[in-house]
Amino acid sequence: MEKRKAYAKLTSHTLAFCANYFHGNGFTQLMPVMLSPITDPLGPDPGSSVIKTGEIEYLGQRLSLTQSMILHKQIAVQSGIDRLFILSPNVRLEHPKRRESGRHLFEFSQLDFEIAHAKMDDVFSLMEGLICGVAESTRADCAPELSRLGRALPRFAAPFPRHTTAELIARYGLDWEPAASKEHKSPFWAISHKREFYDREDPESPGTYRNYDLIYPEGFGEALSGGEREWEFDRIMSRIGRDRLGKAQFSPYIELAKGGLTPSAGGGFGIERMVRYLSGAPHVGDVQLFRRVPGEPVVV
Ligand code: ASP
Ligand code: MG
Repeated sequence: MEKRKAYAKLTSHTLAFCANYFHGNGFTQLMPVMLSPITDPLGPDPGSSVIKTGEIEYLGQRLSLTQSMILHKQIAVQSGIDRLFILSPNVRLEHPKRRESGRHLFEFSQLDFEIAHAKMDDVFSLMEGLICGVAESTRADCAPELSRLGRALPRFAAPFPRHTTAELIARYGLDWEPAASKEHKSPFWAISHKREFYDREDPESPGTYRNYDLIYPEGFGEALSGGEREWEFDRIMSRIGRDRLGKAQFSPYIELAKGGLTPSAGGGFGIERMVRYLSGAPHVGDVQLFRRVPGEPVVV
């Protein structure tokens, strides 16, 4: 079997598993958008090195290419869809040096989900069920592909370890992710990151954030980012101001947020990174049939 056929089969299996899992847990699947006046600003986030936001001009309107569906997820929750997921293409024009991370792509597919009135713990147990389930089902259904790729997928169980970023920095230094990922035998949660305005800062404890990353073990690094969300208008505006983001850039979102948004929590994870982890691929670009690695020319 050719390696690319094995990666394609693993990708197809992963997509089917994830869609069934979310449908089975009462989520409504929405269609993605690729062009909008608003998109995820992707910052400030130490994990992001996007050099510019892709955009096009169409009939006099400036439209950004989707960097993530976060703002649209919140708008969908606000419209009454209280458990939703979207499989969406994301374009993130990363710095070419990101090629060396092994886990960055400038075009990938993200599964984004959002749950009205949920808290961090709801997302933790939902995702732990998904990750344990997809690993088990990949071992059972894709044994020939795993063996072709020389992958022995280690076993682990829920609940996953939880650490604050402060604990991780104290133990591994500022760039904690690679070393912490290598040392862990199980996926783990990294909690409280100072990043985008939409992730909720704990009102009781300013400087602490009710957000999280899920990190794969064995050095595969970040799987998911997510959080509880800011939903009160004044807090959203002060966070946008603090990040020095142009308010005009988010005007349709700000307009909708005026009476307050519906509180929610959610997250987004890259399908290619999940397949890379399951298959043990050296680079996340290896699992793509049409490779989109920063710093590499696009062939087809
Ligand atoms: N902000 C996340 C991302 O990196 C998604 C989320 O928070 O739900 O795409
Ligand atoms: Mg992230």
